[in-house]
Amino acid sequence: MTETATQQTDSLPLAAGFTPEAWRNLCLELGAPPFRAKQLWNWIAYHLVDDWSRMSNIPGALRKQLAARSLITALKVSERTTAPDGVTKYLLACGDGELIESVLIPTQERHTLCVSTQAGCPFGCAFCASGAAGLVRNLAAGEIVEQVYTAARDIRIAPNAAPDARPDNIVFMGMGEPLANYDNTITAIRVLNEPGGLNIGARRITVSTCGVVPGIRKLSGEGLQIELSVSLHAPDDKLRNELMPVNNLWPLHELIEACADYTALTGRIITYEYTLIAGRNDQPHHADALTRLLRYQQCRINLIPLSPVPHFTGNAPTAANCARFQAILTRAGINTTLRNSRGSGADAACGQLRLRRRHS
Ligand code: SAH
Repeated sequence: MTETATQQTDSLPLAAGFTPEAWRNLCLELGAPPFRAKQLWNWIAYHLVDDWSRMSNIPGALRKQLAARSLITALKVSERTTAPDGVTKYLLACGDGELIESVLIPTQERHTLCVSTQAGCPFGCAFCASGAAGLVRNLAAGEIVEQVYTAARDIRIAPNAAPDARPDNIVFMGMGEPLANYDNTITAIRVLNEPGGLNIGARRITVSTCGVVPGIRKLSGEGLQIELSVSLHAPDDKLRNELMPVNNLWPLHELIEACADYTALTGRIITYEYTLIAGRNDQPHHADALTRLLRYQQCRINLIPLSPVPHFTGNAPTAANCARFQAILTRAGINTTLRNSRGSGADAACGQLRLRRRHS
C-alpha cells in the first residue's frame, strides 16, 4: 500500500462506532435501501464480523463502496497476557500505532471488561500509570467499541460459549478520562447498549471519572441509566491536590455538590473509588474525614488497595489497616466494599502494560 493510501484509510470513520442511525445515513448517501442499514448493523454489532467479505447477504458492489467509506476494524491485538487468576490484559494497536489497553476479568458467573477512552491521560494522578506521559489523543467511538468486540470474539471462541456471548459488564476504568472524551464515550455507550447489537444493559455499564465536574453535570441530562463512579482517593483538598492535580480545577466542594445534584436529578447512587495508600490516605483520621465529607449523601464507597506502579513510591496498606479503614466507614452507615485488585500478574493496574512497552 502506498503512503497516501495508508493515510486515507487511517482517516476513514470506524464501522464499530456507527449507531443504527449512522448506518441509515450512510445507506441513504450511497443510494442503498434502508433495510441494508439493518443488515449492516447486524453484521457489525451483533455478529462482530471483521471482514466485509463475510457479509453474505450484502451485494459485492455495496461492500466495495462501504470498504471505501469506512474501516471495518481499527485495532490489532499486539499482546494478550493471561494471569493465573484468568484475568486477560489486551494491549491493542490503533491504526496510527498508538497502544491502548483493555482488561477482561472473568468470574464464575460473568465477564467484566475494563476499557480505555484515551491514549494516555491529561490528568496525571500521582499513582496512575496512564497519565505518566500525558495525553496523546482521544479515542474514536469505534476504538472504544472495538475493545469490547475484540474481547467478545475471544469469549465466543471458548468451548461451549453461546454464539452471541459477550462481556456482561463494561467498566470505563482503563486508560484515560471518559468525561474528557465526552461525545465519543457517550456514542460508544449507546452503541453497546443498543438492542440488536451487543445489548449490554445500561446498569451494567460503569463510567469512572477523576472528577470532571462539567462532565458529571452534562451526564446527568443524558437519560442514561448507567452507573457512575467517582475517583476520590482523599477526604480533603490538600491531600487530593497532591494525589490528583485535577482537584485544583474542581475542588472537593464543587465535586461533591455536582455528585449530590447528579443523584438528585437521575435517582442514581454514585460509587466513590478510594485507592488506599499506606501512610498517605489510610489512617483513621482520613476515614473520619471521609465520613464527614459524605455524611449528607446517599452513596457507596469502593476501597481498592494500591497496585504498585514504578513511578510512584507508595504501597498498599496491610490487610488489617484496610479492614480498619472500612470498619470506620461501615460504622458511620456508609455502604463500603473492599476490593482486592485482581490481575496484578498481567500488569493490570491502569496503563501499566503500555507503560512497560514504551520503556522497553
Ligand atoms: N480517569 C478515570 C478512569 C480511569 S482510572 C478515573 O480516574 O476514574 C480507574 C480507577 O483506577 C480510578 O479510580 C483510578 O484512580 C484507579 N487507579 C489508577 N491507578 C491505580 C493504582 N496504581 N492502584 C489502584 N488504583 C488505581
